[in-house]
Amino acid sequence: MSPESKTQGTMLLISGPSGSGKSTICKRLLEDSRVVFSVSATTRTKREGEVDGRDYYFLSVEEFKAKRAAGEFLESAEVYGNLYGTLRGPMQEAIAKGFIYLVEIDVQGAMQLLAGKEEGIYVFIAPPSMKELEARLRGRGSETPESLERRLGKAEDEYRERKRYDHVIVNDNLDDAVTEVRRIAGLDTKTESAGS
Ligand code: 5GP
Repeated sequence: MSPESKTQGTMLLISGPSGSGKSTICKRLLEDSRVVFSVSATTRTKREGEVDGRDYYFLSVEEFKAKRAAGEFLESAEVYGNLYGTLRGPMQEAIAKGFIYLVEIDVQGAMQLLAGKEEGIYVFIAPPSMKELEARLRGRGSETPESLERRLGKAEDEYRERKRYDHVIVNDNLDDAVTEVRRIAGLDTKTESAGS
C-alpha cells in the first residue's frame, strides 16, 4: 500500500505505561514514509526542542476546552495534570489517503477510542517488568520522588488493561519490538526504509 493510493489506511494505536519505551518505538515507526504521526493537542508547556504543530499543538486550557466542546476530539484525557486530545479531522484525512495513522496516547485515551469502536489496530507496549519500568523512569532523571510514585501507580493500573488490546508487545529489545509492530501493521511486506 502506498500513501495517496485508493486503499484505506488504518489507525495504529500505540499505548502503554510511561517508561515502556512507546515513544522510542513510535520514532522508529515514523522512519517509514507510509506512517504519519497523529499530532495531539495539549495544554502542557512546551519542552525544549519541541515544535508546535510537529510534536503537539500547544493550546491554552480555554482553547482546548473550546475545541472539545466543538467535538473536535476523538478522545481527550487529563494526564499528570494536563489535558491531551486526539484531533478527529487529520486522522480521517490521513486514513482516507492510505496512510498508517500512528496514535500514541495514554491508556485512558485508548479505552475511550475502544469504547467508541474506533477502527484500528490497538497495541499495548509493556515493559519487561515493573522493576525495569522503575529503573527506566529513574534513569530519565526528570522524575521527582512524587512523580515517580505517581507514574508507577498509574503504570500498574494501566498494565491491568492490556488484555483489552489486540496485541501486547513486551519491549525487552527495541529492534524486536519495532519489527513486531511493523509486522502487525503490515509494514514489513515491502521495506520502505533501511534498518527497519
Ligand atoms: P508527554 O507530556 O510526556 O508528551 O505525554 C504524557 C502522556 O500523554 C503519554 O503517555 C502520552 O502517550 C499521552 N498522550 C499524548 N497525547 C495524547 C492524546 O492525544 N490523548 C491521550 N489520551 N493521551 C495522550
